[in-house]
Parts: sequence; structure tokens; C-alpha cells
Amino acid sequence: MIEFELICGLETHVELLTQTKIFCGCSTAFGSQPNTHCCPVCLGLPGSLPRLNRQAVEYAILAGLALHCEISPLSHMDRKNYCYPDLPKAYQISQFDVPLCHDGWVTLSNGRTIRIRRIHLEEDAGKLIHQDGRTLIDYNRCGVPLIEIVTEPDFRTVEEAREYLELLQTTMRYLGISDCKMQEGSLRSDVNVSLRPVGSEALGVRTEIKNMNSFSYMEKAIRFEQERQAGLLRQGLPVEQETLRFLPEEGRTEPMRSKEDAHDYRFFPEPDLCQIPVSDELVERLRRTLPELPQAKQNRYQQELGLSEEEARLLTRYRKIACYFEEVATEIQSPKYAVNCILGQIFRRLKTEDDKERAEIPVPPAELAGLIGLLEDGKIRIDLLKSTLETMLDTQKSWKDLLRPEDLAGISSEQLEALCWQAIADSPKAVNDYHNGKEKALKAILGLVMRGCRGKADPIEAEALLRKLL
Ligand code: ADP
Ligand code: MG
Ligand code: ZN
Repeated sequence: MIEFELICGLETHVELLTQTKIFCGCSTAFGSQPNTHCCPVCLGLPGSLPRLNRQAVEYAILAGLALHCEISPLSHMDRKNYCYPDLPKAYQISQFDVPLCHDGWVTLSNGRTIRIRRIHLEEDAGKLIHQDGRTLIDYNRCGVPLIEIVTEPDFRTVEEAREYLELLQTTMRYLGISDCKMQEGSLRSDVNVSLRPVGSEALGVRTEIKNMNSFSYMEKAIRFEQERQAGLLRQGLPVEQETLRFLPEEGRTEPMRSKEDAHDYRFFPEPDLCQIPVSDELVERLRRTLPELPQAKQNRYQQELGLSEEEARLLTRYRKIACYFEEVATEIQSPKYAVNCILGQIFRRLKTEDDKERAEIPVPPAELAGLIGLLEDGKIRIDLLKSTLETMLDTQKSWKDLLRPEDLAGISSEQLEALCWQAIADSPKAVNDYHNGKEKALKAILGLVMRGCRGKADPIEAEALLRKLL
């Protein structure tokens, strides 16, 4: 049977976090009453004139710099003509022949490079809401600034495409230029998929799956297309170049109406806007504001702090988590316990991706550092650290109010031995079981000892002592 290689390229739309729309002063806020952020400009009323939002241009340049693109010294906006109810002007202002940024790249964790063909600036369209057989239109989104980031067809696996999109999301969020919420549509990707026989150089015919708004749907959609196309090719049938939508409930793709697909956009330069000059000074000024980006941070955590790849990846995925970690880590001797507390107790409470992105952690970094410091100074043991941290997360109290002076005093060998005798006296059944060869029974007695000393004893030492006494 012929084996096929997957070829995939992504076109990703990212909504920019400007206060106002790209060509007018209307708010870009998400989730307001429909059609309340609209004006003659974004509704395309006759005689209205667009003015380009400088912040949107600077955000797009930042995205370009983060993705190693070249920035065009002079670009311009173009009209992309099409008639659809979500676009009241009957054209979208976009960039056609000269994008603001071009020829960038990113590298993936497997070392492969994905080329970024271009990043251009454009306006979003309105939102159609299909309801009870009718269609409603909300123009609040109309004119929200977008960048479209187009890759070359460089992905060879589903995992690579997913890693890229996650990296893009994290990077845009680190830059602070987009919140990249897939479920709210501020990050959405069109996925182009084709197959070719392994060893062949020529690209096969591709299909384009529109508007993927979840990582897992994207993976499923690519896998489905991969199977579907392989089925056709193995039967000697052609793959049609077409635009598809993914139906999540059914786990399959279906063609969109071909009318939507057969476009002649009649692009031409937008006559109502000037060209966009970008000076070297502006580019350098923006370059200096770039934060440490996720991959650089991850490498630093691995190389300088000795974290594992997985730990570094988890901690850098969300910028606020990384900041929190760094604030704790600078105040303690080894980052190890900060890593464990964050990836353990704290992550267990930040359940969703949204929770992690918001990173509302009720324990301030200095508090966690103080608690870890007690452990590093040998004043408390790990069990007490963990239980105290849980209480701090529950109650927002300081460890200073939770730990008693005697908790911090350590435990003498006399005290430990007394506790062991007490625990033995208190659990006659477990003692009996233990003498009858039930190893597990010892754990119950040890549990009593550890509770008795509020976790201060070394459990290994305590267990050895118990064995001796028994
Ligand atoms: P168009 O101009 O028709 O939109 P492009 O060549 O500009 O087509 O490509 C659009 C997207 O499709 C890019 O992300 C590109 O990487 C991807 N792409 C192009 N050809 C293929 C192919 N044969 N297989 C998979 N993806 C492709
Ligand atoms: Mg396309
Ligand atoms: Zn407006």
C-alpha cells in the first residue's frame, strides 16, 4: 500500500487587543449588547472615511518581530471585494501584495523550522448568528483589528501543527497584543491539508478547513482529512481543491457552499487610506520593548535553573504563571520546591486553561517563598509544607498565622519516641496485624505518628523507629 506524507499549512487570524477598532473610534470590547459598538465608518455608510489605528500597526509589527519576520518599510491596505451580510461595505480592508511583515520563522521542539510567509493587517467582519431558522447580525466585531499569520506548507504531523498554534497563542499573549481565546474567536485558524506519496517532492491538491476554534477540533479535522484524502488517492480518485467546514459532533468535514469558495476578490489599493511607512527607528523602538519570549524563557529555565523540559514548558505556557514562579524562585535557594508547589498544589486548583491564563493565585509569591524558606532551613518538613500551603490557598491566611511556634521548633528524638509509643498503644489492631505479617498495618501506625507531630518528623526515620520498637 502506498504510504502518504501529511502536508499542512496554517492561516491564523489573531484579534488585536486595541481599545478601539482599526478604522474608527468604536470600542472593541467583547460580549457587549449586539450592535452597540458601531458607527458610520465600521458600518460602511456612504461618505464615511477610515483612519488607520496606529496601535494596531505597532502590535502587528511586534508580532512580526517575535516571529523573526522582516518588516516592510512601506506597505498599504487593499480592498478585498466580496458581498456577504457580515461585511456591510461589501469589501474588507486588508493587505494584498505588500504585507506589513514577511519571511519569518519559528522552530518547534523537534528542531524543525516552520516558515512564516507573511503577516498582514486587516479588519474583522461582523458576526452572523443563526437562530430558529433566521440569521441575525452583530456588527460589534466589524472593524476589530486582526492580523493574519500565514505559514508555508511546512507541517508534517498533527502534533507539529498543534504545537505551532499553541506557541503562537502563548507568544501573542506574552506580547500582550491579543488574548487569543479560541472559544471567543480571537484566535482562529484555517487549516490547509494535502497528502503526497512518501519520497515525492511535488505538493498534492489541498483542501482548506475554515475557522478552527479549538485545538482538539483542529487535530480531529486534520486527522479526518488525512484519512479521507488517503482513501481517495488509494482508489486512484482525485482530491478536489475545496473549502470545508468541520462538524465537531459528527467528527467529519463537509464542503462549504461552492459559491463561497469561487471568489474573485478584485483586490485594489484602498484609495481612502495613505500608505503605511515604517521607519527603522520605529522598528528598533518596538524591538526594545519585546519581553523575554516563551521559548527563550523555557530554555533559560532548563539551562540556568536545571528544570526538566516538561517542567519548563508547563511553567512558561502562561506568562503570569512564569512571573509568579520567577518571583518565588528568586527568594529561595533552589527553584525545586517552587516548581513542585506550582505544578502540584497550585495547578490542581487552576483547572482550566482560562484559570491558568488568569493565574489568580490567592497566595502572594513572597508568602510561598517564606514557607519554602522554612523547609530549606530545616524548620518544617515537606508534609507540613504541603498541608500548610493547602490551607493558605483555602483561607488566604499567612503561614505565620497557621504555623505554631512549636511547629517550627522541630522534634527531638525523645519526643519522637514518645509519640511512637503512644501510637502503638493507640492501635492495638494494627500492631496485631503487623505482627501477623501485614506490612501495610505499619503505615496506619506511622500515620498516627506523623499526625501527632504535625508532619515535623522525618517519615523514614519514624518508620525505622516504629519497626525497632515493635
Ligand atoms: P491561496 O493563495 O490560494 O490562499 P496559498 O498558496 O497562499 O494559497 O496558501 C494558503 C495556505 O495554504 C498557506 O498556509 C500554505 O502554506 C497552505 N498550502 C498551500 N499549498 C498547500 C498544499 N499543497 N498542502 C497543504 N497546504 C498548502
Ligand atoms: Mg486562504
Ligand atoms: Zn465604528
